[in-house]
Amino acid sequence: MLCLTDSIRQSDSSLQTLLVAVEEAPTLATIILAAWRLARALAVRIVEEVLAKRAQHPTQWPCCPQCGARLHSKGFIPRQVDTLLGCIHWRRRVGRCPNGCKIGQVAPLDEDLGLQPHQRTSGELKLAACALAVFVPFETAATLLRLLSGVQTSPGAVWLWVQEVGQRAMEWLQRELENLAKGQLPDEEPMDERMAAQPLLVGADGVMVPFRPEDGTPKGKTVWREIKVAVLARLRRHTTHTGQEVSRLERRRLVAVLGDIDALSPRLWLEAVRQGILSAQQVVWLSDGARGFWRLFFVCFAQYAIGILDFYHTTQNLWKGTAAWLDGRTKRARQWFASARHRLRHGEPDSVLADIAQALELDGLPDSARETLANLYAYLEKHRDHINYEKFKELGLPIGSGFVESACKWLIQQRFKGVGMRWGENGFNHLLHLRLAWVNGSFDSLFQVEASPNL
Ligand SMILES: [Zn+2]
Repeated sequence: MLCLTDSIRQSDSSLQTLLVAVEEAPTLATIILAAWRLARALAVRIVEEVLAKRAQHPTQWPCCPQCGARLHSKGFIPRQVDTLLGCIHWRRRVGRCPNGCKIGQVAPLDEDLGLQPHQRTSGELKLAACALAVFVPFETAATLLRLLSGVQTSPGAVWLWVQEVGQRAMEWLQRELENLAKGQLPDEEPMDERMAAQPLLVGADGVMVPFRPEDGTPKGKTVWREIKVAVLARLRRHTTHTGQEVSRLERRRLVAVLGDIDALSPRLWLEAVRQGILSAQQVVWLSDGARGFWRLFFVCFAQYAIGILDFYHTTQNLWKGTAAWLDGRTKRARQWFASARHRLRHGEPDSVLADIAQALELDGLPDSARETLANLYAYLEKHRDHINYEKFKELGLPIGSGFVESACKWLIQQRFKGVGMRWGENGFNHLLHLRLAWVNGSFDSLFQVEASPNL
């Protein structure tokens, strides 16, 4: 039997050098690394042989798009592309118009291979680089890519690919938003019956990101801008073998925008329709007290969803009112707060409202305290339907918007707020849309355009 190493020994000297390096490496780790280099060199050789063979197939020449004459072959011209294996070289036939129309070179094999005329990097290398950049800074992404594949890629190249693919994601979204504005609803994302029966949870929050004051220059003071983030998920409840009721989120989808509530609104609605808001048996909106998000709730979601005011946020406001009214340090303040909090949680919000109304009648309450307390009253009264925590608990619904905060942490905090990081608007948006595509399960489709020769 012919040994694989023997057959490599019979081929050219560059492979033999790599083989010798494997044979002479002292430790297992260095053997593996040397073998990895040999494997890549072999793979490059195989790909180049396959391409050379395909280039020999007879070419079906298309007609000139300008004059209609069938193109003529101008012979074989070299082509090279950077790939996950390294640089691949081959030669293929190139045609030109026989009448001299300025249509450039046409290479039918490039088209068959899904390559654009000036493409220098193949799709799978861009995908790997962009996937790394979703999680780590561009420089680290380039280093990891070199470590894993041996391909030399600069951080600047990774950055450019993220811009290119992120731009594509934004254009796709823009088209969907235009269709939505024309009254064309998106298709619902397919889901099985079990999932369709689960409540659809929707929540939103804002988070700040540091930006450069001007795009394209690192000069000037940091400007903090708010990103609006929304989460949609199905709530799965089940009983464990110890009889404990637990719930967890499934099919989490994120929506985010560098912009105001009016920019978030159509994006969130688009995703809500996709996640089945129009057919869901139960829809729940959960948010803290930020006014803009509740305006969004009343305009878009109130007719479909139960609104829940985040319990921890409610009690924070409750404490603010209590401190103003009873002076936060007193025992009485702590007692009333504990009792009011308990009553809110267990289905007696009206008695809390009554207490506050009574306190507002008192003489001798300082103006500032009266104002804080009046604000608390107005706040609880406005959200009277959203603070029925006892009922929400009975329905098995969450009363805290922690799932929104953790989504913000993952989507924004983790990648955009590293030490010394400041963003330009375009750079931020492109990476944001790649991260959204990643978490929403549509990342691969952003690269399929390059794999398909028909697009
Ligand atoms: Zn022509």
